Amino acid sequence: MIKALVFVCSVLATTVWAQESEWNKAFNVIWESRWQQSGIPMGAVRWPSESKSIKFSINKSASSSNANRAREAVNLITKVLDWKAIEVEEGNSEVQIEITIRHYKDDELRQAICHASPSWANWLYTKQKLSLSEQYAYRCVLHELMHAFGFPGHPQGDTVLSYFEGNQSSLKPMDEFLLKTWYSNDIKVGVSPFITVNELTQQWVLKHVPQPQQEAAAAAQIKWHQDMLKTMEDFATAKGEPPTILYRSGRISEEGVRAGRANIQGMLGAAYINGWTVDKDISKAARLLLMGAQAGNNGAAGILARHLTLDTWSKEDATASCQWLQTTPVATTKLNATVQQAALESKTCKSSLAP
Ligand SMILES: [Zn+2]
Repeated sequence: MIKALVFVCSVLATTVWAQESEWNKAFNVIWESRWQQSGIPMGAVRWPSESKSIKFSINKSASSSNANRAREAVNLITKVLDWKAIEVEEGNSEVQIEITIRHYKDDELRQAICHASPSWANWLYTKQKLSLSEQYAYRCVLHELMHAFGFPGHPQGDTVLSYFEGNQSSLKPMDEFLLKTWYSNDIKVGVSPFITVNELTQQWVLKHVPQPQQEAAAAAQIKWHQDMLKTMEDFATAKGEPPTILYRSGRISEEGVRAGRANIQGMLGAAYINGWTVDKDISKAARLLLMGAQAGNNGAAGILARHLTLDTWSKEDATASCQWLQTTPVATTKLNATVQQAALESKTCKSSLAP
C-alpha cells in the first residue's frame, strides 16, 4: 500500500514538473521575443491600433510569386488581429510597411537575407521598411512581419521568430497569442520590458492553461519572473557569465555585452525605484542607477539626477551619486547641464557632500 502511494505521488510530481517545464519554455519564448539583436530588451512599441488597419506597399519590380507571398503573409497577420490590410502603391506617402523584394548578390546574402528596419515616435511605429531577398523571401517574410508588428527577438521555440524554425509558411499558436495580446488593452505602450513580459506571461497562463492547473501555472509564472529578475540582476552586478539570452538574441560583441549590462542596470534601477514587478528598494535602485550611469547609460543618469532633485533619497543612498555628479563633467554624464546642476543643488546632495 505504501509502495503504491509513493508510486502515485511520484507520478503526480513528475507530471507537475513536466508541466512546469512546459510553462517555463513558453515564458522563455515570450521573454526572448522582446530582445533585440543588440542584446537589449525592447520597451513596448507597436502600431497605432485605433483604425484597425495597416497600409503596406510592395515594390513593382518584385517577382509576382514573392509579391503574392508577401500579400498573403500580411493578410495572415491582420486576420489574427481582425484588422484590414490595405495595399497602396509603391512610393505612397501614407505607407506604413514598405516591402522591397529584390535579387541579392552573394556578398549581400552573406550579410543578411532579410531585414526589418523600424521607425517610431512616442512608442508608436511610424514606418517599417522590410528588405527581402528574392531568393529567401518565401521563408522570411512572415518572420520579418512579426518583427514589423513589434517582436524584435529570435526565441528558440515553436514560433516563426525562431532562427531554427523549418516551417515559416504559417503562424504558430505562440505567434498568434503574441500578436493578439500585444494589440490588446492589457499592454500599455512605453512601459518597462519587465512589465510587458510579466503581463504577457500572465496572459499566456490565462489563455493556455486548463482551469484545474491555473493556480499551479500562476505560481510557476511568479517564480519564473523572479528567477528571470535574479538572472538579470546577477548580470547587472557582474556576477557570473552574461545570461544565455544575450547570446541567443543575436550578434553579440564584447561592446554589446557592456552596453547590454549598462541597459539592464538602468532597467532594474527604474524597476526598483518605481516598484515595477518588484518591491520598491531605493538603496538597490540607487546603486544600480549609478552603475548604469557610470557605464554610459544616459537614461539611468537622467533618472538618478531627477530623483536626487526630489529630495527623497537618504544621505546614505545619495552620497555616491552626488559625488559622481560633482566630479564628472556633463560631456561624460551626457546630462543636460541644468539637470545636473539642479541635482547637485538639491538638499540631498548638499548635505551628502558637506564636509
Ligand atoms: Zn529576424
